Formats: sequence, structure tokens, C-alpha cells
Amino acid sequence: MVKKKLNPLHIDYRRGIIENCLQQVTNNAGTDDPHLINVWTVDISCQNSRQFVEFIRMKVQDEDPTTFQHIKRIKKSKAEGFLTVIVCSTLMIDNEAEFLTLMECAPFSFHSTSRSSVVPAVGPSTKDLSLKWSNIYWPLVWRGNPNDQVLNDYVFDLPFIKRILSEISKQARNRIGERSGGLPVVSAFVNPKTKEVFYSSDARSSTSPLDHSIMRGITSVATLELERKSSPNARLQDETYLCLNFDVYTTHEPCSMCAMALIHSRIKRCIFLKRMENTGCLDCGSGDSYCMHSHRSLNSKYEVFRWLGEDYPVPQIDSNICC
Ligand SMILES: [Zn+2]
Repeated sequence: MVKKKLNPLHIDYRRGIIENCLQQVTNNAGTDDPHLINVWTVDISCQNSRQFVEFIRMKVQDEDPTTFQHIKRIKKSKAEGFLTVIVCSTLMIDNEAEFLTLMECAPFSFHSTSRSSVVPAVGPSTKDLSLKWSNIYWPLVWRGNPNDQVLNDYVFDLPFIKRILSEISKQARNRIGERSGGLPVVSAFVNPKTKEVFYSSDARSSTSPLDHSIMRGITSVATLELERKSSPNARLQDETYLCLNFDVYTTHEPCSMCAMALIHSRIKRCIFLKRMENTGCLDCGSGDSYCMHSHRSLNSKYEVFRWLGEDYPVPQIDSNICC
């Protein structure tokens, strides 16, 4: 993790823009509309607060999928001399019997076990909202906009990114007027380990209507992987998903089918050049504003960026067509 001040990249944290050219595409609405989760709380004596903190560190912290970094675990109880404390989220332990088994290890006595309190799973983007949520739900700690840290932790190889974007832009423009059997949409899949690049293009009118460039890219990676596995020199790999941690570049914002296929493939990042206002499925302003890659209901997510500016022109495609 790089300290904000030491990050060599120029990041506009407020607008989510890196080096004036990559716009972070994220579900902003999600941060200011709390996604609430239930937590297990108990009341303990004020004198046991130190033991409680130690108990959390030893038994809970590493197991709970919720970090609670934006939440004060301890607040005053309604009863004099007592504290109400958050032990863990219901994502970690769902049923009471299991929770009570965990609490058997607690080196302090407790009462008023409850799972009815709710807290925001992720901290809000502004201090005002943090105060508001503290009043409504549970006391929060303001540590700045959580997305600032996300932006700060991204790693970019800009010369490499520019080279790939330039190539897909060129290939897409070369397809205009060609009898290629598809739309001038081109994608590139980059293997994170070898940096090998696989290019794919749309072929919906010559093969299948589902042969969007992203779908064909995933198929090419699958075919190569199959060949690799069946070769006599194949070694057992621990990878379980085909495009695990791949970076995907594409000329036009993917449609819902392609955006979902990228989720299933477990890619790391997608960078696209042109937004598709009516059919795109990543940008908050596109299509049904679904923001597929960062949708709460889906377990897996990927990073998405849109290239700003006109450095890499792409062919115009009817805004009602899925890419
Ligand atoms: Zn598509």
C-alpha cells in the first residue's frame, strides 16, 4: 500500500480520474446508499473493554468478512456501567448456537445477546454522511472516503495500457468496410503472468449472433488453455478460472451478456474506450445503470476504467446494439 503523498500517479480522488486519462467506473450510488448488514451484539461491563478488544483480535478479526474499520465496535449501553459491543457480523456467524459457542471462549461475562443491530458494510464517502449514519445506525469512525484508498492502491503500467488501446483502436478501424462478418469491435485479453496478449473481434454475422468480441476472447483463452493442458509438458496449475486476473481491453463498453461472462471468468480489470449509452452494462450512466462489475448481489467483481479523450478513436456503432 502506497501512501497517498508518495503515489507516483496523479490521482484526482474527487472525480476518480487517474493520470487525467483513466476514469474509474464504479457504482458510486452504492457508497452513499448504505448496504446494511446485521451484527451480533452483547452487553459487557465497562471494566471488561480491554479483554473484549483482545478477544476480538484473537478470535474474530481474521474470520469476519466485514472489516469494521469504519465502525466503533463499542458504544455506551442504556444500562449504567455497561457497554454494548459488536462481536461479529452475521456474515461470519449466522445462527445463535454457533455464536454462543464462540462466546464460550470469551474471558468476560456478557448478557443481552442480539443480532438485530444493523451497520453499513462500507463507510460513506463524506464526513456529513458518516455523522448522519452514526445517528441512524451505529457510531462510525470517519477515516476519509474509502474509495480514496481503493484508487490509491491501483497499479497501472500506462505505457503498456496505451500500447494495447492503440492496437485495438487500430484493428477496429481496419475492420470498417471489411467483409469480416461482424461489428468493428475488438478486445484484448492479457495474461497476468506471461503478459501474452490475445486479440479477439466480433463475428456475430458470420458465426453465431452471440459471438461478441468479449465472448470470442474468452473462448480463445479457453481453447489455448485446453491445448496447454493436453500437451505432454503440461504442469498442474492451481488456477481454477479461465481468465483469472486477466486484464481485458475493449473498444466498446460490453453488454450485459459480456459483462457477466467477465465476472464468471474472474478477470481483474476491464478498460474500455467508448461508452455504449443504451446497451452498456458497466458505466452507471449506461443502459439500465446496472454497473454489473460492482453489483452488490454478485460475489465476484472486477475493476473498470474508461479511457478519457480522443487518443484512440473507435468506429461508431448504433447505440442500440449490444457490444
Ligand atoms: Zn456483448
